[in-house]
Amino acid sequence: MNKIVIANFKMNKTDKETKEYLINFLAKYEDYKSNLIMAFPFTSLATAKYMLDGRKIALGAQNICEDDKEGCTGEISGKMLVDCGVKYVIVGHSERRNKFKEDSKKINNKIKNALKNRMTAIVCVGESLVDRNIMNTLSTLKRQIEDALKGLYENELENIIIAYEPVWAIGSGKTPTAKEVELAVKSIRKVISDDFSSKAGEQIKIVYGGSLTPKNIGVFKDIKGLDGVLVGRGCLDSNIFIQIINSII
Ligand code: PEP
Repeated sequence: MNKIVIANFKMNKTDKETKEYLINFLAKYEDYKSNLIMAFPFTSLATAKYMLDGRKIALGAQNICEDDKEGCTGEISGKMLVDCGVKYVIVGHSERRNKFKEDSKKINNKIKNALKNRMTAIVCVGESLVDRNIMNTLSTLKRQIEDALKGLYENELENIIIAYEPVWAIGSGKTPTAKEVELAVKSIRKVISDDFSSKAGEQIKIVYGGSLTPKNIGVFKDIKGLDGVLVGRGCLDSNIFIQIINSII
């Protein structure tokens, strides 16, 4: 299977900048090379939908409201995302957990709303530096995964991608070693195996994210059990992003 590559544009690119970016990117990107998901800000989704039409690139969003009920001023419903052509939603990113105080219940509800609207949830989990220093990485991952997937049926895991994103690696220029990522991936699969089934543990899709660049991407290419990567700042320049994609496939 092609490697999964997820681009998280975070709070970057105006509508005009998205257009310019995609003109450059699409001229160089060869569709067959990866399983690419581009998660733009809400204000760029309509333009991206139009420009990605006919290309083998899926559109992603970076957030979703907990439910699609009325009375949620300032939020975006699942229905609105689907209408914009969105197939994937990032949920539980550490910036949302920390800056916007999204707790595990909210994250669980957002995942359920994404699934209800037939989208795939990209569920971010990862330990803080403190957790890492006190050797709590694996217990943190277990807790976050179990909280996030509470109440889901096994067949719904087909529409879940787990993104292992150590909080200390995001935007810091620091990355874990290949061995550390392999261990985290193995433990994520074990949590899913224990809570659902060994088949589910084998089949769940897992990607790594945090400070990926053309220089360090090679380290993450052949990690056992890892299905792909999630790229933040590294996707903002289309030439750099193409280099990252070409180095991971
Ligand atoms: C992210 O924000 O999900 C991310 C991976 O960021 P960066 O690549 O910039 O560390």
